[in-house]
Amino acid sequence: MGRTSMTGIPRVLSIAGTDPTGGAGIQADLKSIAANGGYGMAVVTALVAQNTHGVRSVHVPPLDFLAEQLDAVSDDVEIDAVKIGMLADTGVIGVVEAWLERVQPPIVVLDPVMVATSGDRLLDANAEAALRQLLSRATLVTPNIPELAILVDEPRALTWADALAQAERLSERHGVAVVAKGGHLDGDAVPDAVVDASESDDDRIREVPGTRIVSTNTHGTGCSLSSALATLLPRVGDTAEALAQAKCWLAESIRHGADLHVGSGNGPVSH
Ligand code: PLP
Repeated sequence: MGRTSMTGIPRVLSIAGTDPTGGAGIQADLKSIAANGGYGMAVVTALVAQNTHGVRSVHVPPLDFLAEQLDAVSDDVEIDAVKIGMLADTGVIGVVEAWLERVQPPIVVLDPVMVATSGDRLLDANAEAALRQLLSRATLVTPNIPELAILVDEPRALTWADALAQAERLSERHGVAVVAKGGHLDGDAVPDAVVDASESDDDRIREVPGTRIVSTNTHGTGCSLSSALATLLPRVGDTAEALAQAKCWLAESIRHGADLHVGSGNGPVSH
C-alpha cells in the first residue's frame, strides 16, 4: 500500500469512542481529518453518553461486531492512515490488535486515551498492560503528560525535561516514535516534540515550540491533534514537520473555540 492515496486525499480511519456533543472522540476526529484535508472514516469502539461536564455511561459493542466494522472498511477501502483513540477494555484492544496485525495499515497514530479531563476513566485500569503491548504496533504514539507517566510506570513529569526523558524511555522500550506534549505543564510555553530513540543523537528529540492559549474550551484537543497527525503524515512524511503543521492548526482551533458556546462545562475547540 502506498503512502499517498491516488487522488492525493488521504483516507484516514478513526478507531475510537463517541462524544455526542461533538467535542471529542470520533466526532472530533472526523472534523479534524476534514479540516486537515483528509477523507475521514470511523469505527466505533465504544458509545459514550457524555457532555462537556463528564461521562455518564459507556457501552462497548459486542466484540465480533467491532471486528465486523473493521473488516467492512478494510475489505473495501485502501487505508492511508489509522488514528486509534479510546479502546475501553482488553477485549477491544485484542480485536484492534488482531486487525492491525492482519491489515498492516501504513501509518498508525495511537492516542493512548485513559482518563478524560473530567476525571472519568475511558480505559479499564486493568487494560493498561494490554495498551502498552499495542504501542509497538504504532508508527507514532501521542500521550499527554499523565498518560506518559502511566505508560512508563513513573511519577508524572513536572518539567519539560522530565517529560522528554520519559518519552525517550517509552520510545526505546517499545520501538515507537513518541509525541511528547507540554500542554499539562504549568507556564506560558507549551512545547511539543517528536521523540524517536531509534534516531541519531541530533534527531532524537525534535521540538516544536508553542505558546499557551488561555481557554476553558479545550475538550478534545488530544483527539484533534492525533487525527490531524494521521491526516498530515501520509502527505508530509516528516513527523516533526507534520507536528508543526498540526500544532499550528490546533492553536487556531483553540483560539476560535473562545467564540463557541457549546455546553456549560469544559467546551470543545472549534474546527
Ligand atoms: N471522550 C472520548 C470518546 C475520547 O476519546 C476522549 C479523549 O481522547 C475524551 C472524551 C476526553 O476528552 P478531554 O479529555 O479532552 O475532555
